[in-house]
Amino acid sequence: MKYPALITNKAKLTENIHTINKFCNDHLKKYCAVTKCFCANPEIVDVYYKAGVREFADARIPNLKRINYPDVARWLLRLPMLSEIEDVVKYSDISLNSEVKIVAALSEAALKLGKKHKIILMIDVGDLREGVLAENAVETAGEMLKYEGIELYGIGVNFNCFGGIIPNVENVSIVTEKAREIAEKYGIDIPVISGGNSGSMHLLTDQTMPSEVNYLRLGEVVFFGRETSYQQLIENMHEDIFRLEVEIIELQKKPSMPIGEAGLNALGEKVTFIDKGDMLRAIVACGRQDVYMDKITPLDEKIEILGQSSDHMIIDVTHSDKKYEVGDAISFSISYASLLSLSTSEYIYKLYE
Ligand SMILES: *Cc1c(COP(=O)(O)O)cnc(C)c1O
Repeated sequence: MKYPALITNKAKLTENIHTINKFCNDHLKKYCAVTKCFCANPEIVDVYYKAGVREFADARIPNLKRINYPDVARWLLRLPMLSEIEDVVKYSDISLNSEVKIVAALSEAALKLGKKHKIILMIDVGDLREGVLAENAVETAGEMLKYEGIELYGIGVNFNCFGGIIPNVENVSIVTEKAREIAEKYGIDIPVISGGNSGSMHLLTDQTMPSEVNYLRLGEVVFFGRETSYQQLIENMHEDIFRLEVEIIELQKKPSMPIGEAGLNALGEKVTFIDKGDMLRAIVACGRQDVYMDKITPLDEKIEILGQSSDHMIIDVTHSDKKYEVGDAISFSISYASLLSLSTSEYIYKLYE
């Protein structure tokens, strides 16, 4: 065993993917599987592929490049940078867009490569991240339609990200209404209406999703089992697909109060302590560079994370029923934010079971 390790349970992930596939199918929706949270790790992407997923979405081109199957569609989720336009056309089939200037560049690059690039026009109805405001959507679509290298493949909306705004019938309907206006005004067919991310799942569960929405972009709900607007567990989903295991490199009884004049800690923060007397303190080899301690939870409920520096984490194991030793592993459940940083850290071993 190698530590620190991010461990993925492939069997549970497979079950979750099958559950979401069926769930979406039952509600007549398609989805693209969002891979950015695990950097499109090929072993994990392959679990999706074997479970039947053929559409993948990521925010970054280097991740999309790693998804190499002849029969999959690749979506670029983050708005393209002008500096990466050629790669966008090469490595993605579909990209989300809100800027005419960028669409013009995509069109030019696509024509040069002898391709047609599909775009989704994003409409912002309040979360205030990407997208044109609804009042500008019809006009912007018209301008984008002038470019021959692109196909206006769909209309999309995003929620639950910057503003934390929750999708509902009203705000999603603004988007479906705009899609209808665009299709009518320009006499085109718009195959995709993409109604959000894992935060839109509750609209399927309670049957209030406008029927025009035929696509979602799903990351978190697939591998953490919960819709993200109200954090409700979806039926039959596993929450414990990933865990973090770290190794104890020192285990000693020491005071709980640091001794001497108090300055700042390793991360430049002012820290305060409560005197709890002597405690059994474990140092583990995993630090802030890999993960934020408040985004992970020890599986042993009787231990407590005390603090972190860049490469160390200090844990109070005084009250545990387990007799830890140097060299033992300590396990944690993880969240979306910690999956993201652990996946990105090259110091974390990626293991599977
Ligand atoms: C990250 C992202 C998603 C996926 O979000 P989840 O909450 O993980 O389902 C969907 N759409 C866009 C535009 C994103 O950036």
